[in-house]
Amino acid sequence: MTHIITGLCLRHGGCMEKCPVDCIVSGQPVDDWPTYYIDPETCIDCGACVPACPYNAIWPEANVPEPLKADIQPNYDYFAKGPGYRARGS
Ligand code: SF4
Ligand code: SF4
Repeated sequence: MTHIITGLCLRHGGCMEKCPVDCIVSGQPVDDWPTYYIDPETCIDCGACVPACPYNAIWPEANVPEPLKADIQPNYDYFAKGPGYRARGS
């Protein structure tokens, strides 16, 4: 299991600083990847990022609300098909 960043993310960045395994990245380029994303292969499901988000954008995958379920897959895609960690710092 993993946590998921949904489309409610406004790129405020607080979650990234709380992650003990450093698996949250800002999507780049922003036009293609508009939110932050969690690497599902590395996330340990600790939940530390959840209270750091002022927009309630982060959910355990199993609890993502129905209207936001389409936002699950981009977290996987960003690391499997997109820039993933390579875009870090850009
Ligand atoms: S998920 Fe929340 S805390 Fe993390 S970058 Fe997006 S808005 Fe900020
Ligand atoms: S649940 Fe824990 S390990 Fe997963 S992204 Fe959030 S802070 Fe990182």
